[in-house]
Amino acid sequence: MREQRSGSQILFGYLPNQTVDLQGRVWKVKEWSNPDTRNVDQATVRQELLRMIGRWSATGSDSGLEDELRRNGDIEVVTLNYSSGVRVEAFPKLFICKNPQCRRVIVSEDGASACSCGSRALGQFHFVGYHECGRLAEPWIPKCPTHKEARIVFPGTASAAEIKIVCPVCNAVLRTGLGMWKCKHCDDDTTKFRHTVHRAAVVYTPRGIVVVNPPTSDQLKELSDAGGVARALKWVVDGMRTRSFKDVGQTKETLRRQL
Ligand SMILES: [Zn+2]
Ligand SMILES: [Zn+2]
Ligand SMILES: [Zn+2]
Repeated sequence: MREQRSGSQILFGYLPNQTVDLQGRVWKVKEWSNPDTRNVDQATVRQELLRMIGRWSATGSDSGLEDELRRNGDIEVVTLNYSSGVRVEAFPKLFICKNPQCRRVIVSEDGASACSCGSRALGQFHFVGYHECGRLAEPWIPKCPTHKEARIVFPGTASAAEIKIVCPVCNAVLRTGLGMWKCKHCDDDTTKFRHTVHRAAVVYTPRGIVVVNPPTSDQLKELSDAGGVARALKWVVDGMRTRSFKDVGQTKETLRRQL
């Protein structure tokens, strides 16, 4: 299945790992296919990223991103490839039987399976599990140990804490609420891994950094080959008499670099 969206919609609403509604179903963006790479000075982007993630690094909930940036890990700056687009996958792969007497939970890739009550009308479960560190996971639905099935009783509110998971055969209450526990993905114990509807802002909030006219690594090399900071400063002090400091005649230092 193919869908068309504008570039700006994709930039803000179809980011990797973000959940999206398409054709009445819930999906998760798996990747931007073959994105176009942009050659931007890594040091500039790295510095801005470190500043932006400071709030999460301070509580140890940055999934190790600060360490990776400080180790000079490679940063890839990409832009959307308009011909390859974005790939999405079904998420969560949990469906609920629409028969009001049934409401069984069915694990399915596409919701095309039939329920054991005979109904083929299934609706996707729109709750997901999330944590501050960025972890996103399907809710875990316990099954009756005897009958190996579960049904969901919705409270009529959007609160994950009031959902009841019940056995459709013996009516045993298997759990009240979708659960809340320490995230298994990170060390942060100050906030719990919890559940809510997939489109809630707490599940996914895009973040941005603004870098005005970042130099490409080629431009940076050109500037440094032309004499770097010392020469740029001299050009300013001398009253910027040429269009760029690169246009000032050779110095002993730049001549030596070119040898
Ligand atoms: Zn059913
Ligand atoms: Zn049971
Ligand atoms: Zn976490």
